[in-house]
Amino acid sequence: MTTHGPADFAGQHITVAGLGVSGISAARVLAGLGAHVTVVDGGDGDKQRAAAAGELTAEGISVRLGDGDTLPEGTELVVTSPGWKPDSPLFAAAAAAGVDVVGDVEIAWRLRGPGAAAWLGVTGTNGKTTTVRMLASILAAEGLRTLAVGNIGTPIIDVVLGQGKDGEPPYDVLAVELSSYQLHWAPSLRVHSGAVLNLAPDHLDWHGSMQAYAADKGRIYEGNTVACVYNAADKATEDLVREADVEEGCRAIGFTLGTPGPSQLGVVDGILVDRAFVENRQQQAQELAEVSDVTPPAPHNIANALAAAALARAFGVRPTAVRDGLRAFHPDAHRIQHVAERDGVTYIDDSKATNTHAAEASLAAYEHIVWIAGGLAKGATFDELVQKSASRLRGVVLIGADRALIGEALARHAPDVPVVDLDRTDTGAMPEAVREATRLARPGDTVLLAPACASMDMFVNYNKRGEAFAEAVGELTARDH
Ligand code: ADP
Repeated sequence: MTTHGPADFAGQHITVAGLGVSGISAARVLAGLGAHVTVVDGGDGDKQRAAAAGELTAEGISVRLGDGDTLPEGTELVVTSPGWKPDSPLFAAAAAAGVDVVGDVEIAWRLRGPGAAAWLGVTGTNGKTTTVRMLASILAAEGLRTLAVGNIGTPIIDVVLGQGKDGEPPYDVLAVELSSYQLHWAPSLRVHSGAVLNLAPDHLDWHGSMQAYAADKGRIYEGNTVACVYNAADKATEDLVREADVEEGCRAIGFTLGTPGPSQLGVVDGILVDRAFVENRQQQAQELAEVSDVTPPAPHNIANALAAAALARAFGVRPTAVRDGLRAFHPDAHRIQHVAERDGVTYIDDSKATNTHAAEASLAAYEHIVWIAGGLAKGATFDELVQKSASRLRGVVLIGADRALIGEALARHAPDVPVVDLDRTDTGAMPEAVREATRLARPGDTVLLAPACASMDMFVNYNKRGEAFAEAVGELTARDH
């Protein structure tokens, strides 16, 4: 195996694609390591860009605005930003010139020196952040120095570069969330053990096809040394394990909400059990935790806990640490978050349900629902989601750019469900959506924000969308009921 380290980048001519937050931070880090960095961007530079460019130039970084397509002369490596599509002309030019294109995760991986912390990787369409946080909680309960790394908190490059600095002991192991984009652009990444939680259509506009998306997710299994963790209820994840090229002795470990077979983790009578990392897996099972140790104990979240437990057990963690870590874990905001109960109606914020698969999980968790949905569909279709959820819908309030797509699916599969179509995207849209939802709800119902779409047509991000929902619920007056 080639060893890498920060010295790899000194003197290299590196082109960074995109003058956004991640591009600027990558450019700075690489320039700090002695690389000759040029940042390119197709935009021709408004004031902020000029300002950023000015600062970067002062740090010795070249900036080329107005041309994001041609490869600067002498480029040895291209570092891409998450928003750039794989078919961007710059990458075609790089491929033609035999130049690697990589993302932040690959840079972080190449920055690891000898003896660096192992990585346990988690990918999947939904549940990544939750699962890496559960995993980090379990690893910490074992007494290991660890961190959940992903699209929240410290960027992965900074985590790796910061290892062991300021007298802090280095990490023993990192719990790393890996998106399909990151996996796509991380050709040499080899995690200790990896998990694909589930696979459903998402980001197809970026990847081009479901096959390409699945193939990128499957890259997490490449070179695994101890375990490839898959979802026994999602055959596509198991297929990816079979296709992966792993180290000798690496095992396929399944997780299931049912009784586990040998080499699986599962649930028996409300107990999470391990039939994979025990001495005699034909006859033995090891109790790990109770379902009630997991918050919230919704089925999809038990699946996340089992995946986290499988990775931790692959790393040698004791059963009691799995239990203690799960007990200590509390989910992040905007993920099936209880906002309020008013006049017998419960308001739930699952703004993080940005695709149909996540929305399906939360719609399955309630009996009578007034559903607030819509936003940017990202190439998704809604027929299956509506078909599966129709019987639980009391009513629907549609918001956002692609709401007609959901409206059409409702007309096809749930023609009797009342639908309010909100044709506004200003700041008053969410309060109106919440008022309309409240009018449709009966005591005992749940008003559920699970948009099945991205938020950027109306909000900065899904956090802001969730906050707007909670605020609007707070502003409801007696008249709205
Ligand atoms: P990610 O980091 O993959 O986006 P999160 O943990 O932030 O995942 O959860 C995203 C959304 O998916 C939330 O709305 C949550 O309720 C839902 N979700 C979480 N885990 C699962 C799962 N295993 N299957 C389906 N949906 C899930």
